[in-house]
Amino acid sequence: MDCLFCKIIAGEIPSKKVYEDEEIYAFYDINPQAPTHILVIPKKHIASMAEVTEENIGAVAHLMQKIPLIAREAKLDGGFRIVSNAGDDACQSVHHLHFHILGGKKLSEQMA
Ligand code: 5GP
Ligand code: ZN
Repeated sequence: MDCLFCKIIAGEIPSKKVYEDEEIYAFYDINPQAPTHILVIPKKHIASMAEVTEENIGAVAHLMQKIPLIAREAKLDGGFRIVSNAGDDACQSVHHLHFHILGGKKLSEQMA
């Protein structure tokens, strides 16, 4: 499959790893929009939050459970924001489910 994030998981495209286990991979965004900008993705391809089902919710739940650990290790003690763009209206550009972890400064009060 021609998916950028599947290629990152396979190591075919280099990335700066933050955290990894059997089910998920976290790495630094190539174009950071905050002092700390991490992407967390399931290793199994899911196109977006619009494609989450009873069958694949386990990996998504596991991912969510690891966010506090990833945020702590990234020293986001002041707080952080989680964003997941799904579909055209949200300007999703990579069609492999990912959660942005944004922090390291006081973020905008506006979300959209
Ligand atoms: P989206 O716009 O789909 O919510 O987010 C996709 C994110 O992937 C963007 O923030 C973009 O900077 C990031 N990105 C795109 N290509 C690469 C890449 O090759 N490596 C890394 N680390 N991030 C990427
Ligand atoms: Zn993929």
